[in-house]
Amino acid sequence: MAYMCVHCGKKIKQLDGFVRCQYCGSRVIVKGRSSVAKEIKTD
Ligand SMILES: [Zn+2]
Repeated sequence: MAYMCVHCGKKIKQLDGFVRCQYCGSRVIVKGRSSVAKEIKTD
């Protein structure tokens, strides 16, 4: 399950206690699938 920063849209995979965007430092994170973000599978 991937997390995504709603501030910059970067994906965050670090789930260690607290989740914070390592790009912009925002703590506003959405998890799971979003209607905006689509995951692309290569297999
Ligand atoms: Zn961010």
